[in-house]
Amino acid sequence: MEASGSSLPSQLKRFRCVSAAIIGICCFACQSTRDSEPSGRSAAAVLRPEPERPTTKPCEPFGPSDPAEPVRFAVVGDYGAAGPAEARVAALVKGWKPDFILTAGDNNYPSGSAETIDANIGQYFRQFICPYKGRYGAGSSSNRFFPVLGNHDWYTEGATPYLDYFELPGNERYYDVSWGPVQIFALDSDPHEPDGVTAQSAQGQWLKKALGASKARWKIVAMHHAPYSSGPHSSTVYMQWPYKQWGADLIVAGHDHTYERFEIDGLPYVVSGLGGASIYPVSQAAPGSQILYNSDYGAGLVEATASELSFRFFGANGAGLDELRLPRVAPAVPASSAKGAIRQSGSARAELHARP
Ligand SMILES: [Zn+2]
Repeated sequence: MEASGSSLPSQLKRFRCVSAAIIGICCFACQSTRDSEPSGRSAAAVLRPEPERPTTKPCEPFGPSDPAEPVRFAVVGDYGAAGPAEARVAALVKGWKPDFILTAGDNNYPSGSAETIDANIGQYFRQFICPYKGRYGAGSSSNRFFPVLGNHDWYTEGATPYLDYFELPGNERYYDVSWGPVQIFALDSDPHEPDGVTAQSAQGQWLKKALGASKARWKIVAMHHAPYSSGPHSSTVYMQWPYKQWGADLIVAGHDHTYERFEIDGLPYVVSGLGGASIYPVSQAAPGSQILYNSDYGAGLVEATASELSFRFFGANGAGLDELRLPRVAPAVPASSAKGAIRQSGSARAELHARP
């Protein structure tokens, strides 16, 4: 690896190695640099100022390490099916000018293949991806796209196209990312995961250790298969890990093509699966469901400071449909002071499919 010029010290200053449990993240920038550095470049060329999108150049480290810096990011799930619906959601999300995008999986329908991945992802979100190797134009100078693996991404053996397309921290299947006051723990909830998908598995114990070691103000765990859901896939029991006990503040998932928010033992669980693939019908709400929406596509927006985290869900037309605020104080109080467009009232769910 070679040093990448005079800006390196400031980059390193911004770069934060967040978890001793995954030392690999420290090497992420190095890895990107090594893998994408043309072998014949001279030292003089390296020192020249870089254009904004160095498709074949090293990616800059991502994220500010200062926890006082606010962050805003989008949550998009079950989106990777190129077409008008994904285009609408992508336009919504880009309009927010988020710092980064977190996906909830199923990035590449129908089968996670190399032939479709760039049309399903890069066509809409290349501006957030580094290194971007696809055919739709310029990518980002630093990676600002953090996906999780969904079952459709695993339909091609080894999820190889996904792992080839992205350069992610750690083992790339599950990893963590710190950005300002937020730390994201991205899991692989698919049973193909070699390190297992139970709380006792190697992956589960990695999460427990990483959450325990985290100093972040906000700890968000993301995965594809929703631990709690009222949709056709229903709750994925094997992913019902003791997240709250381990220190998580918010759980984000997808798989069911709905928007739903649960509160389970004081911890909010979100299903954000309306990213563009299709919309699922729902007949009955599961216990703990606070709000359920399936009338249009949409995406979530998280904004976090050192003192507050908000999660809002918007329809693709821009309508605000749900809002969850987590104050940093009084964590023992049930988490949500939520302002939902569709609320559950006792056991009655008459508004289940209603638009606001
Ligand atoms: Zn799925």
